[in-house]
Amino acid sequence: MQTERAYQALLSAIGDPKRVLRDEPMDRHTSFRIGGPADVMVFAGSADEIADTLAVCRAHGVPVTVVGNGTNLLVRDGGIRGVVLRVGKGFCRVAAEGTRVRAQAGVPVSALANQTLSKGLAGLEFACGIPGTLGGAVMMNAGAYGGEIADCLTRVWYMDRSGGTGTRAVGEEDLGYRRSVFADEGLIVLEAEFVLREDEDGWAQERAREIGAKRSAKQPLNVPSAGSTFKRPACGYASRLIDAAGLKGLRVGGAQVSELHAGFIVNTGGATAKDVLELADAVRARVKEASGVGLELEIKVLGEP
Ligand SMILES: Cc1cc2nc3c(=O)[nH]c(=O)nc-3n(C[C@H](O)[C@H](O)[C@H](O)COP(=O)(O)OP(=O)(O)OC[C@H]3O[C@@H](n4cnc5c(N)ncnc54)[C@H](O)[C@@H]3O)c2cc1C
Repeated sequence: MQTERAYQALLSAIGDPKRVLRDEPMDRHTSFRIGGPADVMVFAGSADEIADTLAVCRAHGVPVTVVGNGTNLLVRDGGIRGVVLRVGKGFCRVAAEGTRVRAQAGVPVSALANQTLSKGLAGLEFACGIPGTLGGAVMMNAGAYGGEIADCLTRVWYMDRSGGTGTRAVGEEDLGYRRSVFADEGLIVLEAEFVLREDEDGWAQERAREIGAKRSAKQPLNVPSAGSTFKRPACGYASRLIDAAGLKGLRVGGAQVSELHAGFIVNTGGATAKDVLELADAVRARVKEASGVGLELEIKVLGEP
């Protein structure tokens, strides 16, 4: 009842029925192509719409789950109760002044990397090929091939869950391996600023090409996944431990440890979240047995079983 009232109120607050959906299957909004329905899904196109959505949900006592491009998510088969607030398309302004670049949270981080490279700026080349939004990348401190968001992020503009906005200069302790203070404090990332450097000798352009080639050769990019399933343990790469335990190709239902990259669980067709979680548990148990290392999930698991 509360959810239906919140849905009606959101329809009138946002004023566009294409951006306020009822019982929306989350497999349409995750790179894994897995996930039961969100009771309500809102596609916010501005900070005001995010604030309106939070206010409606607060007034009706309905929980809000914030997502970006859904590329680091496993949504469980029972779906997500309450409202899923997607910060994405329509929230995509980018402004640059010299080496200082400010962008809204919905910008695809890979597009931002390409755009800054084409302006002769280095610093975000590691992010070429990361399929999420800038907001998701800041929350996760996304990184690859020796670079990470923390290397050049200087400031974040955010909204708290009561709709208050603020900004914070980013210090060393604010971001760590696949974590950020913004995630710890439940903040919503609105915009981020980076200070990049001149790519004087074209090194960053070249590096981006190398990274693109490595991704195409080593990652199962043509099969649905959420990227690396597990965090990198202190002793090296999760994929090496999984491979060494002989687990490439291991399956539960439609979920499989990728034959190409053991660090990815892929959806070979019709996988459920239950399949993925059972497979992840089996991988964890067998890696622990083989190497003594406990793997931790990197993907975020949301929703009801
Ligand atoms: C093929 C493939 C390759 C990948 N390679 C990499 C890689 O090299 N390195 C890497 O780090 N990751 C990689 N990923 C994982 C993923 O792309 C990143 O974690 C990305 O940063 C997630 O962004 P997103 O917009 O998809 O966020 P989502 O997956 O939608 O959400 C991730 C988390 O961020 C939160 N969130 C998202 N947007 C906001 C916002 N605006 N405000 C507050 N919270 C928010 C969500 O609540 C959730 O907790 C890969 C994924 C795939 C499918």
